[in-house]
Amino acid sequence: MYQPSSDDFPWLADEPDYAYFDTAATCLVPTCVRHAVDRYLLDTHANAHRGSYARSREATQQLEQGRQTLAKWFQIQPDQLAFSASTTQALNDLAQAVPIAWQAGDEILLSIAEHHANLLPWQRLAQRFDLKLRFIELTPEGDLATPELLLTERTRVVAVSAASNVTGAVFELAPLLRAARQRGVVSIVDAAQLAPHQPQKLGLLDADAVVCSAHKFYGVTGLGLLLLAPRFADQLSPFRVGGGIVTKVTREHAEYLSDVHRFEAGTPNTLAVIAAATATEWLDRNADLSHYLDTQRAELSHLLTHREWLQVLPAGPMQTPTLSLVSSSVHAHDLAAYLDSQRIEARAGHHCAQPLLQYLGHSGVVRIALGAYTTPRHLERLVSVLDEAYELFS
Ligand code: PMP
Repeated sequence: MYQPSSDDFPWLADEPDYAYFDTAATCLVPTCVRHAVDRYLLDTHANAHRGSYARSREATQQLEQGRQTLAKWFQIQPDQLAFSASTTQALNDLAQAVPIAWQAGDEILLSIAEHHANLLPWQRLAQRFDLKLRFIELTPEGDLATPELLLTERTRVVAVSAASNVTGAVFELAPLLRAARQRGVVSIVDAAQLAPHQPQKLGLLDADAVVCSAHKFYGVTGLGLLLLAPRFADQLSPFRVGGGIVTKVTREHAEYLSDVHRFEAGTPNTLAVIAAATATEWLDRNADLSHYLDTQRAELSHLLTHREWLQVLPAGPMQTPTLSLVSSSVHAHDLAAYLDSQRIEARAGHHCAQPLLQYLGHSGVVRIALGAYTTPRHLERLVSVLDEAYELFS
C-alpha cells in the first residue's frame, strides 16, 4: 500500500504537521523531479531542436524522450502529443484554431462546471461570431445531467471538463463524445483535473483534443499537453508561428512542418517536459497512489460528517481526491485564513469557476485537494482546526 514518504517529500519528516491541500491547483514535486530538473540545468540546459552541437543535441534527445514517456503514460502515440504552456493556453489556441466556418447562431456546448479556462475562450468566440453557448447542468448529486440531449442541429463544438476542479466530480463523457463524433461535432476535453488520477483514460476518450497541465500531475509549471486525434490535427494550422516549426521561409512565404512540432513555435520548455516525464515515471512506480488517495478522500468525508455548519459539495459517483466545503455560518475566506495560521494550506473562493458557484448558490467554498503527501495526520488536523475555526468565527 502506498504511504507518503519523506524520501519523496522531505518536509514530511521536518514538519509533519504542515499540510498542503492545494494540489488541484499545483502539486508539490517529489524529490526525483527536483533532481531531474537540477541535472538538466547543470548538464543539458540549451535550446532543443536548434543547434548541432552536443549540448543542444542532448537537450533535443531529452525533450523527445520526454514526449515518448508522456505519450506512453497517456497510451497514445508520441506524434499525437503537442506541448503548450498550460491548459489555458491550449484551450485558447484550440478555440481560435478549430476548423469551423462559424455562422451566427451556431452552438457551443459546455458544462456549467467549466473552469474559466474552458469558458472564456468560447465566450469570446461567441461574442465575436454571434454564437450561442449552451450549458449542461448538474444533477443534485453533482453529476452531469443528460448531456447528449443538448446536442442540437446547430452544435458545432462540445468543450467539457472531464473532472470538476471544485467538487472533484469525474464526469462520464463517453456517451456525449460518441454522440458528438457521430454528428461531426468537434469535441474538446479539459482533463486538467483528471490527468493526475486516470491518465490512461485521456487517450481512450473519443475526443478530437484533450488537454491538461503538467503541474497538476507532479511536474512543474509552464507545460500544457495537447492530445490530438490525428483526424483532427490534420485539419489544424499552427496555433502561432515563429521559430522551430518551418522547413523554408522566404520574404513572403513559409512552409511549415507537417508533424506535431508545428504546434510548438518558439523555444520549447524542455525543463518542464523532463520534469513531467520524471513525474509520470514516479507515478508509475507508485501505481497504488490512486487507491491511497481514494481511501483518504473517503476518510476525510467520513471525518467531516455530522457537522451541521459544514457541507461537502456533492460530487457524483466518481471523484478525484478533491472536495469542496461550504459553511452556512463561517465565511470560506475566514476558514482558509484560520487554516493558514495553523500551517494548513487550502484555497477559498470561486476557484475560477464562478458560473458553477452561482449555479450552486455559493459565493465561495474552501477546497481541499489531497496529494501524494497527504497523511492521515493531516486529515485529522484539518478537521480539528476547522472545528476550532467554527468556535472562533461563528
Ligand atoms: N481547467 C481546469 C479544470 C483546471 O483545474 C485548471 C487549473 N486550475 C485549468 C483548466 C487551467 O490550468 P492552467 O492554469 O495550468 O492553465
